Amino acid sequence: MNDLTCVIIGGGYAGLQALKQIKEKTRGIANGRRIRFVLIDKQPGHLRKLRMFRPTAVEEEIVIPWDHLALKDFEFVQGTVASVDSKEKRIRYTDAQGNDARMQYDFLIVAVGSIVRRPDPDQGGIALTDPQAATDIREHWRANLWKAADEKDPGERKRLMTIAVAGAGISGMETSAELSIAMRKEATALGLNPSDVSVYLLDAQERLLPEVSDKFRRKLDQRLIECGVTVLHNRKAMREEAGVVTLSNGDCLAVGLCIWTLGLIPNPGLRGMGLPLTPDGKVLVDECYRVQGMPNVYSIGDCAGIVDPIDGRATQMTCFEAGEQGLLLGKIVMADLDGRSAPSHHSAKSNMDAFTIALGEEGVFWIRKWGLDMVMTGKIPGRIKKLVEDAASMLR
Ligand SMILES: Cc1cc2nc3c(=O)[nH]c(=O)nc-3n(C[C@H](O)[C@H](O)[C@H](O)COP(=O)(O)OP(=O)(O)OC[C@H]3O[C@@H](n4cnc5c(N)ncnc54)[C@H](O)[C@@H]3O)c2cc1C
Repeated sequence: MNDLTCVIIGGGYAGLQALKQIKEKTRGIANGRRIRFVLIDKQPGHLRKLRMFRPTAVEEEIVIPWDHLALKDFEFVQGTVASVDSKEKRIRYTDAQGNDARMQYDFLIVAVGSIVRRPDPDQGGIALTDPQAATDIREHWRANLWKAADEKDPGERKRLMTIAVAGAGISGMETSAELSIAMRKEATALGLNPSDVSVYLLDAQERLLPEVSDKFRRKLDQRLIECGVTVLHNRKAMREEAGVVTLSNGDCLAVGLCIWTLGLIPNPGLRGMGLPLTPDGKVLVDECYRVQGMPNVYSIGDCAGIVDPIDGRATQMTCFEAGEQGLLLGKIVMADLDGRSAPSHHSAKSNMDAFTIALGEEGVFWIRKWGLDMVMTGKIPGRIKKLVEDAASMLR
């Protein structure tokens, strides 16, 4: 009998977890037929998005070649998927050489994720969108510090040593802490005064992470101060032009660089893929991640419009939830193959809130469950975050 082909589009956190779980649950066999697993991704390796802040400060490789992952026994095809034809059970993609190609599937997992929201081109600065942007940011502030070391005018020197990070989500916090520490170190090495380094984190709201407890937020505020970050609340960056960031309250900041960390939007490529979409551009799925009207097609992660059938909560675009969905999808696919009733999605955080944020070498960990509000700071949360990141990326 012919093999069955399971195609996974997208090797982000959701796609990798789905691949692992479906392989493990089925043991590579369904109804006596061997399952062939094919991962297709437009990138030459898995992008560790959670580590995107790192190359802004230090040289660190965050794209891991597919054959370096702990996952085995799957084929990898580099290509950008353009559309899904569910009648013909076929996807169309552009391969790495730019050729139009097609691939048959028996079941398909769509996990094409999200992209980072960009400011308008005339708003200036650099958006932290991908590894190249992270490298550009690092080269930019380093060049500025070199210029500052030769600069006689104290005002201009201070400007060259100042960065504004616009967007105070987790990515903005981690980026600003990492940059502040790296810039101070480099400033000292160049004979500059490290306390002249200024990193402003611009928060559109009146406090960081409104959903967390006050106790956790106090620790977060304190740790950001220790890293040398100044948080400006109730202020949005409007644009950066000629070294000046204009803020929503009319103030101006003289900066050497403005970095945008504005959050995520669902992959815009979904619009042309022929999949049913929600009004906000995510794939329309049922409570078992099955794409509506498309047999044997599932979608999870940032690109899927998943809603808890009991409490009506929509999923957030987080690595944690992408991983949870990948875990559950293994069971769902197995149940569907066996013709049993499949488990359905439930909100990952319905009775628990948890955050781990890495700020320099240290971190802040928070968990709220069964009325307990537990906060941990120091090196251990930093290490927990690193372990979680390594596991999510299936590193060996
Ligand atoms: C800078 C940054 C920091 C973050 N920090 C955190 C954090 O601290 N905690 C947290 O929980 N979450 C964080 N997130 C969010 C988290 O990274 C996402 O929720 C997670 O990556 C979602 O996983 P995914 O697999 O659904 O999508 P993605 O990680 O976006 O993966 C999608 C994959 O699909 C591929 N792909 C896309 N389109 C195509 C196509 N047409 N054809 C073929 N392949 C395609 C991409 O190359 C990619 O490999 C952060 C995100 C960013 C950008």
